[in-house]
Amino acid sequence: MTDEVLVRAEHICKYFKIGGGRMLHAVEDVNLDIHRGETLGLVGESGCGKSTLGRTLMGIYQPTKGKLIYDGKPVDLSNKKDRFAFAKKAQIVFQDPYASLDPRMTAKKIIAEPLRAFGVPPQEQEERVRALARQVGIPEEFLDRYPHQFSGGQRQRIGIARSLAVKPKFVVCDEAVSALDVSIQSQIINLLKDLKDQQNLTYLFITHDLSVVKHISNRIAVMYLGSMVELATSDELYANTLHPYSKALLSAVPIPDPKLEAQKKRQIIEGDVPSPINKPKGCAFSSRCPLACDKCRQSAPTLKEAAPGHFVACHLVEAQG
Ligand code: SF4
Repeated sequence: MTDEVLVRAEHICKYFKIGGGRMLHAVEDVNLDIHRGETLGLVGESGCGKSTLGRTLMGIYQPTKGKLIYDGKPVDLSNKKDRFAFAKKAQIVFQDPYASLDPRMTAKKIIAEPLRAFGVPPQEQEERVRALARQVGIPEEFLDRYPHQFSGGQRQRIGIARSLAVKPKFVVCDEAVSALDVSIQSQIINLLKDLKDQQNLTYLFITHDLSVVKHISNRIAVMYLGSMVELATSDELYANTLHPYSKALLSAVPIPDPKLEAQKKRQIIEGDVPSPINKPKGCAFSSRCPLACDKCRQSAPTLKEAAPGHFVACHLVEAQG
């Protein structure tokens, strides 16, 4: 990992129009730097906006407000040419390999699809597909098979090969291992790590599963109701968790040692995540936070550096600062 910024989000907001003239605020004013060569974990409960943020950062969604900067240059996603050029640099690996692979296409055709879209000559496509299959561990003789003839892990390998076909530099892994069995999860994580090292990739690794994210991420960002609430290196976040929401999330991660697991105190977060259509005033977590005070219900905290490289959005941490 370097200090060089590859992807920068500047005040990114993503809203969706819903019925009755209302707006769903999926992502709210996110500022984030993703460094070249790093794996940035992005965690939070489902519906917290992490997938929407991931899709905005790799160009599927156009931000409602704010700027996306790639390698020092703004990306104009409203411009078709820019969008097409950006698709070569930024790709996504989806959660459910079965749903994201066309059942009527062979593995070879699926992996070659982005190459065709970018006008790669057929002979070169063939060679590249074979090389990609080798890289992701799919035997070449399986390339004429259809998605239903593969296991879940193999299907995800095909999905990864398709995402890497155009040699992107930035890859969003959106719950990429969540649909797989635990034993297969570690194989796919190891594959993603190897590919990252071999091809100098930069990952945004989105997951709701905190036991998965620690081992793959250099830094971890925690999101709640569309906003970033904490960001630190993985070791720092696990050793010195500051935000009440992150503390509750981490307390739910099982410890492999049964004795320690039995002694561990779980912090249960009461209540449901509020609707992103009707967010609470002040801190978005105030309706569920056990430490909420009047100030929390009046004004929203901003993300501030509480320790070197450790950012948190919480009035109480600021006060202790
Ligand atoms: Fe809890 Fe207040 Fe901190 Fe929000 S600002 S997380 S409500 S203590």
